[in-house]
Amino acid sequence: KGPDPDLVAIAERMATVRHKILVLSGKGGVGKSTFSAQLSFALAGMDHQVGLLDIDICGPSIPKMLGLEGQDIHQSNLGWSPVYVESNLGVMSIGFMLPNPDEAVIWRGPRKNGIIKQFLKDVYWGELDYLVVDAPPGTSDEHISIVQFLQATGIDGAIIVTTPQEVSLIDVRKEVSFCKKVGIPVLGVVENMSGLRQPLADIKFMKVTETGEETDMTEWAMKYMRENAPEMLNLIAGTEVFDSSKGGAAKMCMDMGVPFLGKVPMDPQLCKAAEEGRSCFTDQKCGASAPALKRIIEKL
Ligand code: ADP
Repeated sequence: KGPDPDLVAIAERMATVRHKILVLSGKGGVGKSTFSAQLSFALAGMDHQVGLLDIDICGPSIPKMLGLEGQDIHQSNLGWSPVYVESNLGVMSIGFMLPNPDEAVIWRGPRKNGIIKQFLKDVYWGELDYLVVDAPPGTSDEHISIVQFLQATGIDGAIIVTTPQEVSLIDVRKEVSFCKKVGIPVLGVVENMSGLRQPLADIKFMKVTETGEETDMTEWAMKYMRENAPEMLNLIAGTEVFDSSKGGAAKMCMDMGVPFLGKVPMDPQLCKAAEEGRSCFTDQKCGASAPALKRIIEKL
């Protein structure tokens, strides 16, 4: 029996793709698609040729996050053509194929397997520097399919997105062990929606004399606390929404021997950018998430 013709076709398609990165999460709603979208925007912004493949069949949110809702896939003699945000950022998602975005996709494993195979076999990406694959949460049929189909061509690695609390981290451990089992390097873990905090810059320490004269002592007070009571700074910075008292993702990474890529803060501007389908890097008003994401992406 000769080699599987589907795997041969996939290998041919993937021959023009330099790097393949999987974005995974243990749970849904932790910001995996948001990260995939912003990673793709960032890589495209660095003049790379980027493809974003959404294999979250049951909950495709990538079209919306890239501002491509309602778009269609076109066929050419080279295959299915991705939908382009920019000439160097193409997107493929089951979301483009659904007649009604409100309709639930209730597919069994083999059908999901089939569409993923088709995405890999039939989409004409052309030359790509990066193919970012946004996977569904957990470790399900889709994960096994993508790993199996890309095994021959290799996957550079996986980025795992999580929130800081223990319930989410438990599932990250499963994700790490999945990667180890199937031989995919873990590029690192991103802790998203990290502590919602009052920015220190907004706080002022004023010395007021009896006559009502005010002196801004903020700089002195900050320096004093940094040197004498750093834990005070945390109190001022506010309480974290998610309990990370057990050390959060950074500690888990140390325990499991995988890289920790960094924290992305809770940021209304990032949420807005995702809702409106745009990059958070081009918006001057963008909050603290943009520099945090940038630092993470530069580490890859
Ligand atoms: P997942 O892909 O893990 O299911 P999403 O990327 O769809 O999660 O994110 C869930 C929601 O949380 C989205 O509305 C998204 O805009 C929002 N979100 C993600 N990360 C952040 C963040 N750091 N700050 C604020 N909102 C965020």
